Amino acid sequence: MNLILLHKDDFIGGTKRVTLHGRRLQHVLTVLRAKPGDELAVGLSDGLLGRGRVTMISEDELEMETTLDKEPPAPLPVTLLLALPRPKVLRRVLLTASSMGVKKIFLMNAFRVEKSFWKSPFLGEASLRQQLVLGLEQAGDTVMPDVHLRPLFKPFVEDELPGLIRGTTPLAAHPDAENGWPEKTAGPVTLAIGPEGGFIPYETDKLRDCGFRTVSLGKRILRVEAALPALLSKFF
Ligand code: SAM
Repeated sequence: MNLILLHKDDFIGGTKRVTLHGRRLQHVLTVLRAKPGDELAVGLSDGLLGRGRVTMISEDELEMETTLDKEPPAPLPVTLLLALPRPKVLRRVLLTASSMGVKKIFLMNAFRVEKSFWKSPFLGEASLRQQLVLGLEQAGDTVMPDVHLRPLFKPFVEDELPGLIRGTTPLAAHPDAENGWPEKTAGPVTLAIGPEGGFIPYETDKLRDCGFRTVSLGKRILRVEAALPALLSKFF
């Protein structure tokens, strides 16, 4: 945790004084080992970054005076379309996407996505949010990504995707693609990443019909957890 992410209900009596309990307090106690007078990096969820000066700390509670005066880092200009991975992988990739600055994520269906993945409790709002918050705390960002679930491939690609990709460069990551990674992409990108078994030809055809270019990072077939940061790093 490189940033303590604050929420409006952490503030007491105005806009500066904050109390913390639970996971964030434990982190301050056991990892940062802060004492009264120490300054901690803080940020308001969907707001500014700043510092919090510890005024009181005990096993049960921390109080600090905050100054919030800096903009969070710029978002990555990438909308991510991710074929829903298995729940354990999903948690890791959401944290990675959030820490790398992706602000719009569509979890979509594909033939090789197991149906049971859509029933996972990890798709609940609170679970998704937990991973996104961990990513923001890791990166020192405050802006919460939006996650959208799209459990039907065809209507998503045919009806919604044409509007979504407007004004962006649409790329579908596919190890077998003949095109290498583009030298340069101008402006925002919509990036599709396939399931663990990869996109089937019907799906790459549909994405191409919609305007996507299939692009490969090379012959090495990477796991989704490795492909995601490798692909996103192209936009840093
Ligand atoms: N056997 C599958 C295939 O050949 O498509 C492997 C899928 S891979 C585990 C999961 C996803 O990661 C792929 O659908 C793709 O989006 C992305 N990926 C993995 N390696 C890649 C590479 N070398 N180039 C581009 N994308 C890659």
